[in-house]
Amino acid sequence: MFHTTLFTPAHEALREEVSAFLEAEILPHHAAWAAAGAIPREAWHMAGRAGLLCRTLPREMGGHGGSFLESVVIIEELARLRISGLLTCLQSDIVAPFLHRLGTRAQQQAWLPGFASGAVLGAVALSEPQGGSDLAGLRTTATRHGEGLVLDGRKAHISNGSQADLMIVAARRPGAGGEKAISLVLVEAERPGVTRRAIPKSAMPALNTAEIDLDGCLVPAANLLGAEGTGFLYLMTFLGMERLVLAIYAQASSERILRELIGDCDARALLEHQNTRFSLADLYADCAVNRAYLDGCIRAADAGRPDPKAACVAKLRTTNTLRQAAALGVQFRGAAGISGASGQRATQDMLDSAVQSIWGGTSEVMRDVIGRSLGSVL
Ligand SMILES: Cc1cc2nc3c(=O)[nH]c(=O)nc-3n(C[C@H](O)[C@H](O)[C@H](O)COP(=O)(O)OP(=O)(O)OC[C@H]3O[C@@H](n4cnc5c(N)ncnc54)[C@H](O)[C@@H]3O)c2cc1C
Repeated sequence: MFHTTLFTPAHEALREEVSAFLEAEILPHHAAWAAAGAIPREAWHMAGRAGLLCRTLPREMGGHGGSFLESVVIIEELARLRISGLLTCLQSDIVAPFLHRLGTRAQQQAWLPGFASGAVLGAVALSEPQGGSDLAGLRTTATRHGEGLVLDGRKAHISNGSQADLMIVAARRPGAGGEKAISLVLVEAERPGVTRRAIPKSAMPALNTAEIDLDGCLVPAANLLGAEGTGFLYLMTFLGMERLVLAIYAQASSERILRELIGDCDARALLEHQNTRFSLADLYADCAVNRAYLDGCIRAADAGRPDPKAACVAKLRTTNTLRQAAALGVQFRGAAGISGASGQRATQDMLDSAVQSIWGGTSEVMRDVIGRSLGSVL
């Protein structure tokens, strides 16, 4: 819909392959998975075999040794086809990079090939019930105990949380406040002291989200990911990439809604109304400008120079536009926006769009990060 110079013919060939796989193997089952609130493990294996997992991971670690642009193609196709359950980008571009960048050789060898094949499902467990926005205030503790660490606390709203084999848990040294007391710890799901409950939700229902209790859960000290006490620093770095991934998903979702809405309004002669044309023109303009800004962020990340603040701007803008697009998707269809198949799609779009400005840092947190940096832009 919008001109972009990001992709080569090889990327477009990958796009064809990815969309053919998703349309044939995933879409037909997605509604049933949404009703069940989870994706069967076999779907992750299939995604691995089809090459959707860990495109950027080096081949010797089980990945494809590809560029970030290959990940972008996959994220865009997931959004274009409204796939919100089998979000391979969570595994490939958000969870796996923690192990790739911070893991010891032993940790990488133990887990990354499985991440790439779909045999292992990973999760990042940061948020807690008292509030996910205040990461520096997280309460889960990791207490030294002989040669190990004992974890205690509760994590909330963790994607793939009740299905993951491995969780990257953020926890603090007990009795120590502040950011420098936070570490990242690998927790295998079958460890004693781990209890998980799926959280039913109306938005993105096929995506499993869970509450995770850690109750005296003992792990070896070798499960520390990166240096002890540097977890918060790592999180700030990795959250930048997560926000870029979520902005790409949001932008592709907006473009899909806009394309469908223009088609529907045209078919029903609604474009004859000036108000409809003006509203869609505003949406088109927002999408076009967001696309250009996002492409700049993607290009920088692909060149190995990701910009965390720019990712906040991209996430804030693309998710805001997505919410507006989803609201128009209901309003401009009239009663059909809330009834029948088109209404089900449009109302689900509204619910799903709400997630985008919450997870990975809310829009308010994005504004806070951008706002705090303003003194340095003069
Ligand atoms: C579908 C889904 C999947 C998720 N997956 C994961 C996951 O895999 N791993 C994980 O760790 N977390 C995950 N989360 C949690 C997500 O990161 C949090 O929901 C998010 O960070 C917000 O935290 P909260 O929901 O506790 O809201 P709160 O932090 O309680 O915020 C409530 C409201 O207060 C506002 N607010 C809070 N602090 C401030 C502030 N300082 N300034 C201005 N306004 C503020 C917020 O913007 C928000 O509007 C997921 C969430 C969802 C919905």
